[in-house]
Amino acid sequence: MAVDLHAKIRDVPDFPKPGIVFKDIMPLLADPEALRETVDRLTEWARPREPDVILGAEARGFITGGALAHALGCGFVAARKPGKLPWRTVSAKYALEYGFDVLEVHADAVGRGQRVLVHDDVLATGGTAKAKCELVEQLGGEVVGVAFIIALDFLGGRDRLAGYDVGALISYDS
Ligand code: AMP
Repeated sequence: MAVDLHAKIRDVPDFPKPGIVFKDIMPLLADPEALRETVDRLTEWARPREPDVILGAEARGFITGGALAHALGCGFVAARKPGKLPWRTVSAKYALEYGFDVLEVHADAVGRGQRVLVHDDVLATGGTAKAKCELVEQLGGEVVGVAFIIALDFLGGRDRLAGYDVGALISYDS
């Protein structure tokens, strides 16, 4: 029987700010069957898009992003908070559901014409994913898909990512 991934996501009200219901994927990651099912389903969605590389942001995007890259036989590129990457970087600023942030990638992380699958755990307003897509495009890469475990559809992230091929394993309407 298929694993109920939905049941492995914990709602944490008022984290990190009042009014935000945080979707905590730690129970899903800690469960061997749920983790395997998550990576298998992300892989199934991503494979026909034929990515060369997976781009994930810290911290949770590294966990399933690394597993996804391994399953697909792709490379992995890390988008990180400012000051964490040791070499020359390009950066993008973006608005979050709860504030502003900046992401950086190494200037040589994506080659011209490379097919990049952008990955994160949660699609909320779409600002983070949009910034990652812009970083890929700044470096001459092609975004072949944007894959999430969870989409909070009531926050309009899919509209923000209009024009990109967006997939999510679990969607919430409210
Ligand atoms: P956004 O840029 O608004 O789409 O936010 C996406 C990023 O913030 C992702 O990296 C998520 O991990 C995190 N995030 C935003 N809202 C939530 C939420 N309600 N629950 C869990 N993570 C969230």
